[in-house]
Amino acid sequence: MPDCIFCDILSGLAPASFVYRDEQCAAFMDIRPVNPGHVLVVPLAHAAELTVLDEKTGAHLFRVGQRLAGALRRSGVKCEGVNLFLADGAAAGQEVLHVHLHVIPRFRKDGFGLRFSPAYFIRPPRSELEKNAELIRNQLG
Ligand code: AMP
Ligand code: ZN
Repeated sequence: MPDCIFCDILSGLAPASFVYRDEQCAAFMDIRPVNPGHVLVVPLAHAAELTVLDEKTGAHLFRVGQRLAGALRRSGVKCEGVNLFLADGAAAGQEVLHVHLHVIPRFRKDGFGLRFSPAYFIRPPRSELEKNAELIRNQLG
């Protein structure tokens, strides 16, 4: 068993404020919310990143995230919109190496946002889009 704070939460060794649990996943409040009401959805079985998470569980995480987004909007927590966010890998900002889907309530001028790299402002030629599309297609099987 890896040393994993989310596994500790799921087994009851570490504290958490739970919102939901079923046979595949659980959801609890993020300890450092981007905005009040920020929830994390995690698989019960430890999986460090998406490549080792089975697709069925991945689909289920999204299904529960979608339901939580609806619950947030109805809850009375300030929520004018929702971001579903998943950081896969350290380079993508993943800090806890147990897959988790962030469900983040958003409202205008909440101060949160993603920052674009300078590359974003240079539109690539179609040939580059086609080349990268082919590279990805080749790996889909
Ligand atoms: P990420 O950067 O996508 O890996 O996000 C990890 C998230 O886990 C952060 O938003 C943290 O605030 C949250 N987190 C870390 N430890 C705990 C904990 N013990 N209970 C609840 N959330 C946590
Ligand atoms: Zn874990």
